[in-house]
Amino acid sequence: MSKVLIIGAGGVGGVVTHKCAQAPDVFSEITLASRTLEKCERIRDQIDRPIEVAQLDADNRDEVIALVNRVKPDLIINVALPYQNLSIMDACMETGVDYLDTANYEPPEAVTFSYTWQWPYERPFREKGIMGLLGCGFDPGVTNIFCAYGLKHYFDEIHTIDILDCNAGDHGRFFATNFNPEINIREVTLRAKWYEDGVWQEGPPMTTRWDFDFPEVGSHPTYLMYHEEMECLARNIPGVKTIRFWMHFSDTYINTMNVLQKVGMTRIDPVYYEGNPVIPVRFLKEVLPEPASLAEGYEGKTCIGCLLEGIKDGRTRRIFIYNICSHRKAYEDANSQAVSYTTGVPAMIGAKLMTQKVWRREGVVHPEELDPDPFMEGLNTYGLPWHVEER
Ligand code: NDP
Repeated sequence: MSKVLIIGAGGVGGVVTHKCAQAPDVFSEITLASRTLEKCERIRDQIDRPIEVAQLDADNRDEVIALVNRVKPDLIINVALPYQNLSIMDACMETGVDYLDTANYEPPEAVTFSYTWQWPYERPFREKGIMGLLGCGFDPGVTNIFCAYGLKHYFDEIHTIDILDCNAGDHGRFFATNFNPEINIREVTLRAKWYEDGVWQEGPPMTTRWDFDFPEVGSHPTYLMYHEEMECLARNIPGVKTIRFWMHFSDTYINTMNVLQKVGMTRIDPVYYEGNPVIPVRFLKEVLPEPASLAEGYEGKTCIGCLLEGIKDGRTRRIFIYNICSHRKAYEDANSQAVSYTTGVPAMIGAKLMTQKVWRREGVVHPEELDPDPFMEGLNTYGLPWHVEER
């Protein structure tokens, strides 16, 4: 039995709250805190279990500390934005509370998608006797676990990891992002980066194409890009030589993104409008649909998986480990769309394993450093069943 504090009441925060509420034997008390109290209240009102709500500016470390001291949680699940990671981690250190997030810290003024800022918390977290689980959504998160599971059960050595992410769904809008628009746009406009024969390579974003035949959702074009889990997988999967990340984008998405980029709407530096500083990508976020608002009526499915190639008993082997998630089922289970759902469910499973001490390591840790088996079991139990295909 544990008390959990969830920070962030967006698309992912809604799913985490629903799923924690569905496990009362694990999470006996739940508090949901976010910048806009009404969003916490809206989620609370969808759930027939008491949920505490609180207004919180998580950029302010002292406010987080005050809330933690009042709520006294065993664990914080941070599903606000990456900008808040460090203030929340600082509050965890101050109060001795475990921490979990789903995205790396980003400094607002630079696009990095790197763990550079969070890895130095290893020592202070260890000294404080607390655990910080970094990147426990789907990608990063489940994709890291798929690699660890592959290594444990299917390979003696993994040489190549291709992570493939396809949302073959239709939300009926002309243009919308499935998770926070500002973070999504920062991510997809970043230069592509991949790890090849042990060396990092770079190229332009959204240009190198691979048409991949996904189970159940069919063949779709995917594009090489950078994603943060590549950084820790290159460190933590022994013997890996090549790691690439591929994401499916529709032609409309790519064309619209190109226009937005060319006209300067994806800029993250301030421009002056009538004497006031405005950050274009933040303004753009305000006019785009919120991820949570896409849930109702979203049709189709996502397929995300890892194509792993390596050696088993002296022979080459290639497998694809993947999950299929239906937008409609995500809505029925947690009032959500599949992208928020595939992020929130793994966060809840990671939190469950941490509070039950099935997963325990003091310091900061990535999912692939822990035993994948109980997590893989949790995916089957809590709504994200997975499959393995020999290729
Ligand atoms: P949303 O924009 O839907 O939600 C973000 C929430 O955080 C909003 O409720 C927002 O409040 C709140 N928030 C923002 N700033 C603060 C602050 N200073 N203090 C308190 N709350 C704040 O985003 P998503 O739910 O789609 O994404 C949440 C996180 O999940 C992101 O970090 C994203 O990168 C990550 N993610 C990870 C994935 C993975 O697979 N690993 C996939 C998808 C997302 P307000 O409404 O007031 O703005």
